Order: sequence, then structure tokens, then C-alpha cells
Amino acid sequence: MALMITDECINCDVCEPECPNQAISMGPLIYRIDPLRCTECVGHFDEPQCRVVCPVACIPNDPLYVETREQLLAKLAHLGPADPPDGAPGAPS
Ligand code: SF4
Ligand code: SF4
Repeated sequence: MALMITDECINCDVCEPECPNQAISMGPLIYRIDPLRCTECVGHFDEPQCRVVCPVACIPNDPLYVETREQLLAKLAHLGPADPPDGAPGAPS
């Protein structure tokens, strides 16, 4: 199960550096989670780190990405490097 960030996000910036999979990035208005990179922190921590630190509790499960623990571990095993941030060397222009 990937997690998702709702529009209650206040852009406090604290979740992004906590993600072990570089799944969180700033979107056009609020932060967002890449469901193809979020493993619910399976393989790294006992609980989702973004949810632990979010001060407004705006990170529910994403109902579009229901996955078992085994599927999450397989996703983790196949994760490549995260896309570079916009404007960084190597970012698409
Ligand atoms: S649950 Fe873990 S892997 Fe998923 S976005 Fe949050 S910190 Fe990243
Ligand atoms: S911790 Fe919560 S409120 Fe802060 S940027 Fe992340 S999702 Fe938004």
C-alpha cells in the first residue's frame, strides 16, 4: 500500500527528508508521494516515517495502491535512483 498526501498538507517540509525511498517531493501546490517508490517504509522502519512526523495527519493510505508486504518488499528491491529535482543536473528540461 502506498501512502498519499491530501490537500490538508501545510507544506511544512518535515516529511520529505524522512523518506528512505525518496518518494516524497514538492508538487505544484503541496507535497506528493510517488506511489511507485513508497513502500510504506517496509524494509526500512516499523511504521511509515512520513506519517509519524506529519503535524497535521494528512497522509492516509492510497486506495489505488493496495499492496501486500511481499509486494512492497519486491517494489523496494527494484527501486532505482530517484529522479533528480527539477533544475538539478540530469533533470528533464
Ligand atoms: S511511507 Fe515511508 S516510503 Fe512511503 S512516502 Fe512515507 S516515508 Fe516514504
Ligand atoms: S509532513 Fe505533512 S504537512 Fe508537512 S509537508 Fe509532509 S505531508 Fe505536508
